[in-house]
Amino acid sequence: MSMSFRPEVEVHVTNGRKLSPSEPNSVIIRLKTKSVEIIIENQTTGRQNRRTQVSPPFLIDINLRSSSHDHIRTLLHDRLVGYPFESYLCDDLAPKISTAAIDLGFGHNGFTLTMAATVTYRTVSVMSNDEKSLRMVLLGRMKAEEFKSLKMETEPCSICLESLVSGPKPRDVTRMTCSHVFHNGCLLEWLKRKNTCPLCRTEIYD
Ligand SMILES: [Zn+2]
Ligand SMILES: [Zn+2]
Repeated sequence: MSMSFRPEVEVHVTNGRKLSPSEPNSVIIRLKTKSVEIIIENQTTGRQNRRTQVSPPFLIDINLRSSSHDHIRTLLHDRLVGYPFESYLCDDLAPKISTAAIDLGFGHNGFTLTMAATVTYRTVSVMSNDEKSLRMVLLGRMKAEEFKSLKMETEPCSICLESLVSGPKPRDVTRMTCSHVFHNGCLLEWLKRKNTCPLCRTEIYD
């Protein structure tokens, strides 16, 4: 289950310079996108994990012929097509650009204006038990070389009783935190029903 919120937009002028009246009004916006994902791993204890990702800046350059919000919004719309929450972003940015343009003497002289905008998208997801198991299995996944170094090639998987690695085709294995090793597929099936290691009954997650 996942919820998204309206993004937070932070904008500031990084550079502004007045030009002669015959020069155009050029505005450059460096738009950075930051995604913050909050993963609630346990609803009872409230334990959570946070993942933040920042994308490289996206440059929007526009030529203002009017300081009206509508004009600026239309220019931004054209550049932001397909951007998440595009319309909300345009509504947020247009008045700020307009104010900065007026401060720089819109209508009396030309100018160059550079603004930095950071849009933060926040999502909150609650992990289901299936997702927790999958994540655990992925975290414990072992590479073939690592597995060979344990000298367990001949050991069977105690869930299906077949060999862990030998057989017609190689199978992925996972070592759990208790150090027991099983086939990934077998373990995922098992964890759908139980929350413990099949061998030692250590609890997998709380
Ligand atoms: Zn197995
Ligand atoms: Zn175990």
